[in-house]
Amino acid sequence: MKCTILTVGTEILFGSITNTNSVYLSRRLNELGIDVMYHMSCGDNPVRLKEMLAYAYEDCDMVITTGGLGPTEDDLTKENIAGFFGEKNVCFEEQLAVLKKHFPDYMPPNNIKQAYFPEHAVILKNPNGTAPGFFLEKGGRFIASLPGPPSEMTPMFENELRPILASMQDSVLYFRNIKTMGIGESQLEMELLDLIDAQTDPTLATYASSFETTLRIASKRSTLEEAQAAVDEMLAKVRERVGQYIYSEDGEDIKKVVFDMLMEKGLTLSSCESCTGGAFAKAFTDFPGSSAIFDRSLVTYSWDAKMQELGVRKETLEEYGAESAEVAEEMVAGLRAVSGSDICISVTGFAGPTGGTQDRPVGTFFIGLAYGGELKSFRFETRRPTRERVRAYAVTEMFRTIYRELKN
Ligand code: ATP
Ligand code: MG
Repeated sequence: MKCTILTVGTEILFGSITNTNSVYLSRRLNELGIDVMYHMSCGDNPVRLKEMLAYAYEDCDMVITTGGLGPTEDDLTKENIAGFFGEKNVCFEEQLAVLKKHFPDYMPPNNIKQAYFPEHAVILKNPNGTAPGFFLEKGGRFIASLPGPPSEMTPMFENELRPILASMQDSVLYFRNIKTMGIGESQLEMELLDLIDAQTDPTLATYASSFETTLRIASKRSTLEEAQAAVDEMLAKVRERVGQYIYSEDGEDIKKVVFDMLMEKGLTLSSCESCTGGAFAKAFTDFPGSSAIFDRSLVTYSWDAKMQELGVRKETLEEYGAESAEVAEEMVAGLRAVSGSDICISVTGFAGPTGGTQDRPVGTFFIGLAYGGELKSFRFETRRPTRERVRAYAVTEMFRTIYRELKN
């Protein structure tokens, strides 16, 4: 099936809210094997909404809308959909009873709207609000309308609509997101070019996101087992070609992979951070349970802090500058001495926009690592180094550095 997601609401067009409903529904529909062809958004305007529907059904047999189901004057989605399908909007007695229960003493007159639906609609219950949703099938076209607030939309989708959509599918989609590091999108594509060119099912697609490339292998078959087998067979071929770059075959990001590795091995960790300002510690302690292995993080921004807290020598700072491999190593040596953690990691560098030197431009940073009696440092450079990107990239490379070290 081909589907359009139509989100209704002027707030979306104004940019006052982020359209998370489209993202959510797209993911879930794709998992069901439903192809999402368009994302559309419009205000609750009868003319434009009907135009959108007409356009959507040129290509799709299904539209899912969110928003505009509420009791207020500007909530017109149901009326407009009824109009489009040539349906009368009629009172559903059962729904009226539900509403009356909800407002035992006095029902604001506007709310009665919420008992009206296109005459052939099937109600989708809303235990989390007063506006029910509905779906309607007419003339080979399917439409479902869900409320706007995500706290109401997602449970309605999961509990009411999803089972119906699943029963309508004669195929299932199975996919895996293969996460890589140390290989760019174009190189990955080159390595897999013949597989990509020959693809029908499973399909292979690469995506570049922040500092890494993801490969998605997807198969649509009549049963989940068949789809899984097809994906796994392709994955084996991919592994042969680019296995050394793969760090997750389940779409997990490097932070989670490293966190799980440390938890599993029961290795303790401490960090000392200069240019990232504590962002590594924040990222690591975002994981529940991190207290079992995370000891401390020292944010040593100034020379004084590096000297006092970590015992970095003044001569080293003067000779090499704070943003150097030498200082990264002294930082991590000092951290190991005070914390005694199994793994100690440091970072120092030029986040910019000013600073940097001839041979160490803005975006250059150094990571020091102490693990298993060894002490090493690594140099990195950030492409297109805005301050934000440098800091984010440095945190990513801190996780990758730990990953590489533990893998070896
Ligand atoms: P209500 O009964 O609350 O009026 P409704 O179905 O009429 O619900 P809207 O009035 O269109 O929905 O939106 C209500 C709220 O839901 C918005 O203020 C916004 O917070 C959230 N919302 C609506 N559409 C979206 C969307 N596409 N993505 C994320 N949030 C949304
Ligand atoms: Mg509303």
